[in-house]
Amino acid sequence: MNFSDSEIVASVMTDNQYVTTEDHQLADVIFLNTCSIRDNAEQKVMNRLKQLQHLRKKKPGLIIGVLGCMAERLKSSLLEENELGMRVDMVVGPDAYRDLPQLMLDAENGHKAINIILSAEETYADITPVRYASNGVSAFISIMRGCENFCSYCVVPFTRGKERSRDPQTIVGEARELFEAGYREISLLGQNVNSYRWENEESGLVTGFPELIEMMAKVNPLLRLRFATSHPKDMSDQLLQVIASNPNICKAIHLPMQSGSTSVLKRMNRKYTRQDYQNRIEAIRRIIPGCAISTDIIAGFCGETPQEHNQTLEMMEWAAFDFAFMFKYSEREGTLAAKKYTDDIPEEVKSSRLQEIIKLQQKLSLKSNKKDVGTVVEVLVEGPSKRSPDFVSGRSSHNKVVVFPGKGYKPGDYVMVKVTSCTAATLLGDAIDD
Ligand code: SAH
Ligand code: SF4
Repeated sequence: MNFSDSEIVASVMTDNQYVTTEDHQLADVIFLNTCSIRDNAEQKVMNRLKQLQHLRKKKPGLIIGVLGCMAERLKSSLLEENELGMRVDMVVGPDAYRDLPQLMLDAENGHKAINIILSAEETYADITPVRYASNGVSAFISIMRGCENFCSYCVVPFTRGKERSRDPQTIVGEARELFEAGYREISLLGQNVNSYRWENEESGLVTGFPELIEMMAKVNPLLRLRFATSHPKDMSDQLLQVIASNPNICKAIHLPMQSGSTSVLKRMNRKYTRQDYQNRIEAIRRIIPGCAISTDIIAGFCGETPQEHNQTLEMMEWAAFDFAFMFKYSEREGTLAAKKYTDDIPEEVKSSRLQEIIKLQQKLSLKSNKKDVGTVVEVLVEGPSKRSPDFVSGRSSHNKVVVFPGKGYKPGDYVMVKVTSCTAATLLGDAIDD
């Protein structure tokens, strides 16, 4: 559930003479890298663990490990057999991946293997991730870890610890290596990339996110850059100007709104108002005309009134988001919201509000895609289309999936495509270059 971290785990393991397999039936060790953000993410892991217990019966020496956020949240309870007959052999938090070889020895010797110590410094800066599940064109680079924003609904500050940034030289170095290996698109990752900050110990020089992404943009004009996530409270005009003036920084910004109501945002501890959010959208539209904007929205947060919900719908229309990730509020134990507010919106109301939000976003996404019909977009080809081997699929700078007839294009090619039609999810077109 966390591709970027799994690539670090694969690197630690392969450096210690383990090899990966694509068939879990063949594996001697199975790690589930987990997410705790919502209850349904944890339920998925629980279901997968249940399936794996059958495999354990067939293969008694099998080692099963839970890594990442659920390890951090559920701790040693995962090592005990629960009422569903599930138990794992290893529990490893997100800052303990370097300890995996040692923990493996413990597990192989029948001991309980657990390390859930969070670190204030670990960034895995010197570990080159193994891009084992990659399309060979787009890759992730984690530029920072942890989060200290404590949005009231969110478990991340508890499972991933203090915010820390990674040395920019190691980030640029990794980008160069990726480019040389044929990669053409890098997504810079952090919970709040706008608070990226690195101070050089000798010179005292401070690198912020705008400076970092500008350094990355200079690696090669053919290397595209994306990033996620921007917290609205910290997104500066300086960053927007850097995006506007570098053609290889994609013109797509993910700016999670969460709610369109100032009172809900206050309960969420998001530290911006509806007006502040509108100001940021206006700044994007002014400084980067035509930039795509996507968002995250939570339906049915504690105490959300019908009026507050309607304000979210209103803001969606106003902002005309190109794309959105939309969720029902899921209470997480230990968070500020769980302590301070009651999860009082009935499940059916949460569901119907979420459905309204999804329906509206589908309309907005379709409208956004229809605007592109008749225009020409630059597409970075990622591979054959899932629909048909005669078509290839890639993304535009706006992060829209574009599908068009293949004509021998390879992953990593840049192709100018005239958009001829669309759905709410995809643009369809024809290559216009020869
Ligand atoms: N750091 C990013 C978000 C990371 S989590 C940011 O602040 O924008 C991704 C998304 O999951 C969040 O934006 C939020 O919309 C959603 N989310 C987080 N906790 C949630 C919860 N308890 N219930 C429902 N959705 C949640
Ligand atoms: Fe969670 Fe808020 Fe941090 Fe995002 S900024 S990870 S939502 S606490």
